[in-house]
Amino acid sequence: MPPQTKHLFGPVPSRRLGLSLGVDIVPLKTCTQNCMYCQLGVHCRQTLNRKPYVNIDLVVSELKNALNEGLKADYITLSGSGEPTLNSQLAALIDQIKQFTDIPVAILTNGTLFSDPAVRADCAKADVVLPSLDAGDDETFQKINAPHEDIDFPAFVDGLCRFRTEFTGQIWLEVFFIEGLNTQDSQIRKIKQIIQQTKPDKVHLNTSVRPPVDPAAQTVSQDRLTEIATELGPIAEVIANFAKTASTDRSTVSRTDVLELLKRRPCCLEDICSGLSAASREISSLLAELEKDNKITTETIGNKIFFKKK
Ligand code: SF4
Repeated sequence: MPPQTKHLFGPVPSRRLGLSLGVDIVPLKTCTQNCMYCQLGVHCRQTLNRKPYVNIDLVVSELKNALNEGLKADYITLSGSGEPTLNSQLAALIDQIKQFTDIPVAILTNGTLFSDPAVRADCAKADVVLPSLDAGDDETFQKINAPHEDIDFPAFVDGLCRFRTEFTGQIWLEVFFIEGLNTQDSQIRKIKQIIQQTKPDKVHLNTSVRPPVDPAAQTVSQDRLTEIATELGPIAEVIANFAKTASTDRSTVSRTDVLELLKRRPCCLEDICSGLSAASREISSLLAELEKDNKITTETIGNKIFFKKK
């Protein structure tokens, strides 16, 4: 991991992308939605306004330095602290990344701006696009994703369909399930219909395994997710737990490294060790210090303890 970069984080273990080197291209929680399961905190800067937001020359230089220093990753992932398609320089950034590395570029997006042809054209420069679809109808969309008031559910679905016809790369759709909100048979049927219309290459089923902002974002059991995957068809899979180790030469990790990682999302000990390529003894001791200094807090979900920045 590059020391003290402003826009990079990780590589962090991702259940979908292996070792994912995150690139932040919008300020913290600048987004078109305010999902109840968001891990980025409650204060969303909700907007539909596309603009540069960050200095892409600086992003490119941080990326180049990190790769020159030997950092390895399976994907360079444009995501991080909000909705990356809000950045109007997305296409220019991908073009520049592709000039100096073969590492594939992925975009984690909520897909709500795909109704804009310019956003679709920008995203079509990536290798993999991972949009979200959590609802089969507008009412459920409002409840789960709390979109900006000018986002229209049919236009959002239409944007996903159009993007499929224009993009030749991989589309891996994520459906985030919340018990009782989108797990009923009627919702599954509607979501399935939209999947058939939008034709992704894969469908990833997710649920709340990390502490969400809203405690009402109830976890769906593994058995029920498996049942839903079967109903959605052969391209659907429950996202498996991740277990791969980062391959950098990093030997020491600082408190700042841990806090930077936890600022983006709550992590368990195993996530932090993988993301920072460090031994659990080293990380445990840093976590104990940070907890004592009141910099982090913990929350237990299932049988795992998650650490969060205060
Ligand atoms: S789309 Fe992503 S960043 Fe935006 S509110 Fe939802 S979970 Fe958070």
